[in-house]
Amino acid sequence: MTATRANIVNSFEAAYDGTPAWEIGRTQKEFTYLESAGEIQGLVLDVGCGTGENALYLVERGYDVIGIDIASAAISKARKKAWKRGLHGLFLVQDALDLQNLGLKFDTIIDSGLFHVFSDEARKKFVKSLESVLRIGGMYLMICLSEHEPPGWGPRRITQAEIESAFCDGFRINYIRKAWFETNLEQCEVHAWLASITKL
Ligand code: SAH
Repeated sequence: MTATRANIVNSFEAAYDGTPAWEIGRTQKEFTYLESAGEIQGLVLDVGCGTGENALYLVERGYDVIGIDIASAAISKARKKAWKRGLHGLFLVQDALDLQNLGLKFDTIIDSGLFHVFSDEARKKFVKSLESVLRIGGMYLMICLSEHEPPGWGPRRITQAEIESAFCDGFRINYIRKAWFETNLEQCEVHAWLASITKL
């Protein structure tokens, strides 16, 4: 049975009643590396931003960032964090499958743990949605769980070939490298892919 959109929204809303496994209370270290390597530039969109740690890390370093998430509970938490830290991040409830609604173009889009939540069908829509708001030459930087993570907790595992095939048209894949996605579970780090992809 395919999950309806309402079911998906409800399950993420419910996850934010507590502390979901991906909620580590700081930015994912892969994004700190990307930032220090100068890979993040211009106007930044954080898709599926959750409670905003990655977005706020960038705001603190002077970037203009918009964070969007389908779960209003996550966006409320992100706004509260921004307010408490005195930071100007803009957080909006928005479906990542309809990003053109934002009416903006971004230089960089970061994705920490969103790509791997989509079904095959939704993934195609997501890639089109990304394309509609990424500037030509703009970068999509994404971390997702990889097939090297044994079955068990969490979202679907993504193969390198699946990433290549999702972005085979209209994009250049700069690299897909092995990475670690941090969680608050006992096994803190899980096998992931970090992908850097440019819109042609
Ligand atoms: N980036 C955050 C959250 C990762 S979990 C972090 O690293 O902590 C995936 C997030 O994507 C959740 O917050 C979930 O609510 C959001 N999400 C799931 N489907 C979405 C969609 N279609 N559009 C926007 N956000 C979505």
